[in-house]
Amino acid sequence: MGIVLLGPPGSGKGTQGRLLAERLGVRHLSTGVLLRDEASSGTDLGRKIAPYLDRGELAPDDLTMAVVEPAVAAARAEGGYVLDGFPRTLDQASHLPEDDIAVHLDLPDDVARVRLAERDEGRSDDDDPTVIDHRLRVYHERTAPLLELYGSRGRLITVDADQPPEAVAGAIAAALEARS
Ligand code: ADP
Repeated sequence: MGIVLLGPPGSGKGTQGRLLAERLGVRHLSTGVLLRDEASSGTDLGRKIAPYLDRGELAPDDLTMAVVEPAVAAARAEGGYVLDGFPRTLDQASHLPEDDIAVHLDLPDDVARVRLAERDEGRSDDDDPTVIDHRLRVYHERTAPLLELYGSRGRLITVDADQPPEAVAGAIAAALEARS
């Protein structure tokens, strides 16, 4: 069972990832959390990653893969994953099985901006409107093309993410149910 969550920053990937992984009994992996942990641990790899996180840039694929690949492999060996924040580029998607299902948390940019400005998780990349705008731009340029990729495989579910978390979770569950 492999599910990837696609959606702009602020669309609820973390919340829905946790809920969905619990429901399915698989691991929830957030690449943002994995990368931030690596960055704050002060390893050589972490020191290389940190500046990208601060600027709202994607970390380069080789650095990202070094952190993410072992975690994905371990989750796969244990029966599956819900990935939150990966893949974010077409190249990253090529590292995952073609039968993974993508869940698109669809949210207008203006709603995402408000949510990120209100979010208070001590993340410096949420504090600066310029960094927020940049992350949204990066999402549209680099990650949104993945919607077409998963869509062309018939493996894309789109839900309206501009609803309370329980309603979004319900919509995801119903859409997955309808496929099985
Ligand atoms: P959000 O989706 O709300 O921006 P995340 O915690 O998923 O938050 O990601 C935060 C930051 O971590 C991104 O802006 C980027 O710098 C980095 N990041 C996360 N996932 C990836 C990835 N798959 N590839 C490269 N960088 C990533």
